Amino acid sequence: MKPFQYFQPTEIRFGAGRVSEVGEAVARWGRRCLMVTVPKFPAFKPLFRRVQESLASRGVAVAHFDGVVPNPTIDVVSAGAAMAKDFGADVILGLGGGSSMDTAKAVAVEAVHEGSCWNYLFFKPTQPTEKTLPVVAVTTTSGTGSQVTQVAVVTNPGEKNKSALYHPLLFPKTSIVDPELMVSVPSSVTAATGFDVFAHAFESYINPSGSPYTDLLAVEALRLVSKSLPSAVRHGKDLTARTSMAWADTLAGLAIANAGVTLPHGIGMAMSGLYPHVAHGEALACVYPAILRYSWDAAPAKFAAVGRIFDKSLEALDDPAAAKKLGPVVEAFLRTIGLRIGLADLKIPVKELKALAQASLVLPDYKNHPRVAGRDDIHAILKNSVSS
Ligand code: NAD
Repeated sequence: MKPFQYFQPTEIRFGAGRVSEVGEAVARWGRRCLMVTVPKFPAFKPLFRRVQESLASRGVAVAHFDGVVPNPTIDVVSAGAAMAKDFGADVILGLGGGSSMDTAKAVAVEAVHEGSCWNYLFFKPTQPTEKTLPVVAVTTTSGTGSQVTQVAVVTNPGEKNKSALYHPLLFPKTSIVDPELMVSVPSSVTAATGFDVFAHAFESYINPSGSPYTDLLAVEALRLVSKSLPSAVRHGKDLTARTSMAWADTLAGLAIANAGVTLPHGIGMAMSGLYPHVAHGEALACVYPAILRYSWDAAPAKFAAVGRIFDKSLEALDDPAAAKKLGPVVEAFLRTIGLRIGLADLKIPVKELKALAQASLVLPDYKNHPRVAGRDDIHAILKNSVSS
């Protein structure tokens, strides 16, 4: 077995109803909490009230920053950080999907460091220090795994660039994963976020930085996605399916935190950077079938193993034959969850695909794909992803 290490400092509190523990969890880290969320809307109003009451019951004073947007921008982070400073926050609570949890993490950095969170991206010489405020995360989607990662994804609209802070200090101190919070997620968002879980599990599984430990997490996440995502999409109130997906999301997050992602995420990040209206999971769904067709023969045993999780009939085939079928199998799965889409559906102009291919090489993730793509390969993948 190859040598490996695995690191995970986040306390995970998993289970229906556990959001009621948020006051106690936050109070362990501070007495003045900035709660970071999207703007109030009907599905979230009772949740926001419940969380604020739980915090108050533990003597935690709360300021509510409700300016989060999907694909959160650095301006939004700055507004949140300014509020955290004015309020004297000593702990940040991210309550919502990946956009809210990531904004909370970036606010935790910017509120106590000089300048914008953009100055602290993973590759820059300045990095977050021990001053970084503690973050507690409560996830309301089953998608990003952000509740258990050291990553905060942020977008700089001026540079049309989506990138990430990545530092061990950004692991949430405590994460609450309460599947009851996910029953209100609309079906289309369930599909897109659920496909992100597939992508995390798959990309950590095929990643050379993976390990026997992350493989274990990834394979179980893939099994749960194949079994439960279609039900969660069709029957949003099915708590069993929601619970499976919440667990799959957490497992896949634990896997990427230690193994990383590959080419699809490189393209997906570039896509939402250039076209911020594109949701992360949609960007991935668009390009996955073409990427699988491009790279199945670079890691046939692993592609075949994933194919067999989603289509038992592939058990009759040898690895190369089963691996080759993974593209069509994932395409069929995307149809089942109503997410078989192309770049045209996302209004991405064909004449800009070369620029998108170039931007896909900015983050280093593509280098960890079993078949390493150049700009022309990615351009070809994108051209094959225009229509569904
Ligand atoms: P999101 O947080 O943007 O939420 C999507 C939509 O769903 C929003 O409109 C939100 O208000 C709504 N929503 C969320 N929870 C809901 C609920 N319970 N009921 C009803 N509506 C609800 O989507 P996401 O996919 O969770 O997060 C995407 C962001 O996370 C992207 O920026 C992506 O790049 C990033 N990301 C981060 C990591 C990480 O490790 N930090 C990993 C992958 C992706």
